[in-house]
Amino acid sequence: MRLVLIGPPGAGKGTQARLLGERYGIPQISTGEMLRDAQHAGTELGREAGRYMAEGRLVPDDIVIGIVDQRLANGDCRNGFILDGFPRTVAQARALDAMLERHGAALDAAVTVEVPRAELVERLAGRLVCGQCGAMYHRTFDPPKRPNACDRCGAVLAQREDDREDRIERRLDQLAKEVAPVAQYYRDAGLLRAIDGTGSRDAVLARILGSLPA
Ligand code: ADP
Ligand code: ADP
Ligand code: ZN
Repeated sequence: MRLVLIGPPGAGKGTQARLLGERYGIPQISTGEMLRDAQHAGTELGREAGRYMAEGRLVPDDIVIGIVDQRLANGDCRNGFILDGFPRTVAQARALDAMLERHGAALDAAVTVEVPRAELVERLAGRLVCGQCGAMYHRTFDPPKRPNACDRCGAVLAQREDDREDRIERRLDQLAKEVAPVAQYYRDAGLLRAIDGTGSRDAVLARILGSLPA
């Protein structure tokens, strides 16, 4: 299964990508996570990307396309992958098509996850992420068993810098509008599945699975 998940920040892409990856036994590839890793590692690419991420702006296409190209060449993607947060521009979507063609592969579907803006704000404001294994929680909707500790690995949970209350609205203004042209690109290709992203995680997962080719 080769899938891309697109949607605004807070739509649940990361959460669903993880569940789908486990279900199909294929890797979940999050460009946001890879960029944050590069930032923490302090590489030149990470520093460059960090300037855009702090402002809630898209990182330039050539940087993001480069890291995805490298990642998809890895052997663990041979049987499929779930891309989370990529593509976010039409140029990225075209680049992905070209990469897959080189590997003699094609996408099975592009899923957009739709959630009303007020709920996106709530989800982002309460999001907690494990600094070690990347597991995702929410202060109210999906709290960890022990306060601020990861259920999976015990490491400490933190709020992402770009999820700070004063940054959320601007980030949603910047990033939510990027979804429409990418969705249109996949609609034209006959690959788009538009999914209602409200309700429980499992309800959303069931909707996604129900929309996918067998
Ligand atoms: P969220 O989970 O809130 O949607 P991500 O973790 O996917 O956010 O992305 C975090 C940040 O990384 C984005 O705000 C953006 O700056 C950058 N980023 C992630 N994916 C891409 C992409 N495909 N193109 C450009 N920038 C990206
Ligand atoms: P994205 O990757 O699209 O930015 P995430 O998967 O990180 O979204 O989810 C954003 C926040 O919302 C996280 O705190 C997550 O725990 C929470 N969340 C995800 N799915 C749901 C859901 N169906 N209902 C309520 N909260 C959710
Ligand atoms: Zn963890």
